[in-house]
Amino acid sequence: MSLALGHPVIAIPGPSPTPDRVLRAAHRASPDIYGEELPKLNQHVMDQLKRLAGTKANLAPYIGNGHTGWEAAAANMFAPGERALLLVSGHFGASWAAQISEMGVAVEIMDFDNAPADPERLAARLAEDRDGLIRAVMVCQTDTASSAAADIPAIRAAMQDHPALLVVDAIASLGCSPMHMDDWGVDVLISASQKGLMCQPGTAFLWFSDRAAARGRTPLTTPVWDWHLRAGAEAPWRFWNGTPPVPQLFALEEALCMLLDEEGLETVWARHAALAETVWAAVEAWGAGNPGIRLTVADPAGRAHSVTALSLPRADALRDWVTTRTGVTLGVGLGAKDPDNALRIAHMGYCNAAMVMAALGAMEAGMTALSIPHGPGALEAAAKVIAARA
Ligand SMILES: *Cc1c(COP(=O)(O)O)cnc(C)c1O
Repeated sequence: MSLALGHPVIAIPGPSPTPDRVLRAAHRASPDIYGEELPKLNQHVMDQLKRLAGTKANLAPYIGNGHTGWEAAAANMFAPGERALLLVSGHFGASWAAQISEMGVAVEIMDFDNAPADPERLAARLAEDRDGLIRAVMVCQTDTASSAAADIPAIRAAMQDHPALLVVDAIASLGCSPMHMDDWGVDVLISASQKGLMCQPGTAFLWFSDRAAARGRTPLTTPVWDWHLRAGAEAPWRFWNGTPPVPQLFALEEALCMLLDEEGLETVWARHAALAETVWAAVEAWGAGNPGIRLTVADPAGRAHSVTALSLPRADALRDWVTTRTGVTLGVGLGAKDPDNALRIAHMGYCNAAMVMAALGAMEAGMTALSIPHGPGALEAAAKVIAARA
């Protein structure tokens, strides 16, 4: 029998749940794109996005997804054959490296095997680069597959006075975990609308420092990718290289108001931290009764606050059970060594304690139904974290 009818709980790490009021904000016909309303709206959304990233630097928006952001950033930073050092902590870092290699960037991978990047290894590698051939150090703040979280200030510190740009993919972390782009010395920040920003997929953003802009155009900088044309523009069509994604602008306006003006960023970050700890407490309690159940990232300081990856025997069967029987959808074990026995629980964006307890409660029921051995007390452990932090 299925008990799934009711409000679905989608705990996949993107697209994340979209608030009804954000959907409603998007649900209107476009005003005249040459009128006065749209440039004002566009400017306000851009100002809010800069607040979100903690920067006064430049911002170029693109119609597209996170992969679009990757390609746009690379097209502005590199000429073919120039070097990038990519710190890989999971599937997303590896895919990023593969995509920009295809563009002709000479990517060197430093692999941390699903664990967060080690700043000391980075420092040692950069010390060998006496001629400064490495033009950029690139890292995912959260690798959404492994749920490893990079310590961005520590990475910046490890770069010392090496001239490389620091490029951060914050697609799964912006609006979930702290980001202080200017204070932390990040040169290029990449994000997209459908994860911590609580909107539907469709827009990507590049924030870039004056130091990054000083490079000027390269042979890869075609008009669609050129961030100078967009960041310096006033007319919305210039900003977006054509018709703006009008429904997304209305949606972003609403979602950014919720994050920045209503809840407040500090609270947003604290909520994500508390929900992450709630999930870790449950997984650790299950794991106490089954060594096969364990968090992918051992060190709590290296774990993302927006998504949790874990190994769990028969995870695929469990995912199927919780979806069909309880209405909870969990993330696949993307990039795991043994994907059939791994899954991910998202606690990203528009997500509260009740939604996390729903996901954990459904998993507990599923493990019981499928006779997957697990330690007792996981839901009590999770509830205790919520009681202490709420
Ligand atoms: C989701 C994600 C991407 C890819 O974004 P798409 O919108 O699927 O292209 C890239 N990097 C990270 C860290 C992500 O979480």
